[in-house]
Amino acid sequence: MNLMVNGKADYVDSGNFAHLAAEEAKKYGDIHIAATSREANYTFVPKTYDWRPDADYAYITTNNTIYGTRYTAIPDAPAPLVADMSSNILSEEMDVTKFGMIFAGAQKNIGPAGLCIVIVRKDLMGKEAAYTPKLMSWALQSKNDSMLNTPNTYGIYIAKLGFEWLRDLGGVPAIYQQNVHKANLLYDFIDNSALFNAPAAKEDRSLMNVTFVTGDADKDAAFVKFATQNGLVNLKGHRSVGGMRASIYNAMPVEGVQKLIEVMKAFEKENA
Ligand SMILES: *Cc1c(COP(=O)(O)O)cnc(C)c1O
Repeated sequence: MNLMVNGKADYVDSGNFAHLAAEEAKKYGDIHIAATSREANYTFVPKTYDWRPDADYAYITTNNTIYGTRYTAIPDAPAPLVADMSSNILSEEMDVTKFGMIFAGAQKNIGPAGLCIVIVRKDLMGKEAAYTPKLMSWALQSKNDSMLNTPNTYGIYIAKLGFEWLRDLGGVPAIYQQNVHKANLLYDFIDNSALFNAPAAKEDRSLMNVTFVTGDADKDAAFVKFATQNGLVNLKGHRSVGGMRASIYNAMPVEGVQKLIEVMKAFEKENA
């Protein structure tokens, strides 16, 4: 609504949320899929793109939450790049000059659900279509200090506490080091495991969402149950992929990952 001046936008379909975004955008304009890994069950992030020179924006999802892949290099597109960073914002440094607009739901790395962070290049504001509701207008929101209506004050307050926690820890460079350490511990274990495998392409592995499988749906279910009995919950993969997914967002301490590896080792001993 805010960017579709010519009614054309390009999308990279790299996962569940990317796909949903492209489908939703079709209500508003002519949507072209510039690249996709859908046929490969989203096991990798597309590296070549068929961008249209006259698109109003190019859309990517920097971390594919359900499939456990992420962009390790941000692509160049002729149109302003729009990015959904919901599941990896503040987990690693990003060159913001590469983007026209960045948005992220707060519920993974920032604070409680019900809040969305929007970062927009100033020159891209004020282009919204006439039908755009006031509350959806970046220009109006910006002019009103994001308080055109009464915002989610409690969510914003908790987000502030989250930002302060991250700042005191040393900011994004410090949490990135921790995130790499946590993810490496888990991927190294999986790579050397006689039972577990990671389906995501190695070069595109997410630091936030580690997906893994045994290759046998019954064993996967048995593992999820075993993990729950050992105090580790929500490890079941999304219903569209099956298997397991460990979401190790900024707030997950390294001890949580170490505990998961212990439990995986114990299960492997009995089931490999
Ligand atoms: C979680 C997430 C969303 C939003 O999910 P809801 O739970 O529907 O609010 C959007 N995009 C990505 C990449 C996500 O990880």
